[in-house]
Amino acid sequence: MALTISKKAELVKPSSTLAITAKAAALRAEGKDIVGFGAGEPDFDTPDHIKEAAIKAIKEGFTKYTPASGIVPLKEAISKKFKELNHVEYAKDQIVISNGAKHSLTNIFTAIINEGDEVVIPAPYWLSYPEIVSLAGGIPVFVPTTMEENFKLTPEKLEKAITGKTKALILNSPSNPTGMIYSREELKAIAEIVVAKDIYVVADEIYEYLIYGEEEHVSIASLNEEIYKRTITCNGISKTYAMTGWRIGYTGSSREIAKLMGSIQSHQTSNPNSIAQMAALEAIGGSQETIEEMKKEFAARRDFIYERVCKMPYIKILRPQGAFYTFIDVSDVFAKKHKGEQIGSTDQMANILLEEYGVIVVPCEDFGFSDHIRLSYAISMSQIQKGMERIEAFIHSLV
Ligand SMILES: *Cc1c(COP(=O)(O)O)cnc(C)c1O
Repeated sequence: MALTISKKAELVKPSSTLAITAKAAALRAEGKDIVGFGAGEPDFDTPDHIKEAAIKAIKEGFTKYTPASGIVPLKEAISKKFKELNHVEYAKDQIVISNGAKHSLTNIFTAIINEGDEVVIPAPYWLSYPEIVSLAGGIPVFVPTTMEENFKLTPEKLEKAITGKTKALILNSPSNPTGMIYSREELKAIAEIVVAKDIYVVADEIYEYLIYGEEEHVSIASLNEEIYKRTITCNGISKTYAMTGWRIGYTGSSREIAKLMGSIQSHQTSNPNSIAQMAALEAIGGSQETIEEMKKEFAARRDFIYERVCKMPYIKILRPQGAFYTFIDVSDVFAKKHKGEQIGSTDQMANILLEEYGVIVVPCEDFGFSDHIRLSYAISMSQIQKGMERIEAFIHSLV
């Protein structure tokens, strides 16, 4: 046996968004004035009442192993939230608490995928989906959507993408990177096909609270009994409560799949951090006031970026409805020249923006859209203002 490594592992790409965040940090450490639109996490601090719950847990010695799939009071709080907010009934034994929603997704695909099973992923998509599916032995099948479709999967496109090997569909609403939200009617049409073709739907609802207009968040599992049986709902506290570092995510699913995921997790990681679970209990079960404050701020930032981008030539944007990202079509920039050199690609555009204008943007090739960039508005309004001025200067420099 030679010293080879896993073929599956070899194909995994490092997360480009985390790499961009690291690059921004390195440039700042050198003293450069960088505006980073790369952030994938709220810039707000975890609310004090949640921190206090964690401190209390430590002081009271809640520092040992817990049941592998999470503590009962937290499962009860999640079950109550599912019922009251999402109108979905998941009992305690249908809930698994994991080390972040990313880990929940890993558990889900480990539990349902056999080698070679296909998973339909509408593009643009969150960049970790294909990697998580591939690592579980599945084959990502991308279905590109268009700006005219508001970057949402249509039932026709879904039906066409399904083959005899399709095991699941991933649905992310509100979406990272587009900020788009599926309406109840749209979900009904998709659910019909999911049920008719008898596949799973993995519903990533991590941005459910971060909605800025009149749209409502609808959990696909709430539509009817048939789709409920086929849905695995994935969620977490990272985005809603500004708790990305605490690492708590959770799923609601059938008992059968919950049991499997619990067993998988019991061998791979054991329980999620006991102290973070107590903090999550306070986050989900305690006062929800801070969400409204955060939403107000996000809404103002979204409007600011949207209006500025609308005024700029060569770039196009849809008004995002939720999450904290703007997804911008920059394909008309490629033919333009900057200082005599043709731009040609989002990577080149991102390089110029970083090196000459001190702005970090995320090229969306890893999100399945190589002619778009993503700007996060999880940074302060003053940073956003400065950054938009710089992007504007870049755009106006093009010939
Ligand atoms: C941030 C994010 C997650 C993962 O969040 P965790 O911090 O792992 O809980 C999952 N899905 C989407 C779409 C995200 O943006």
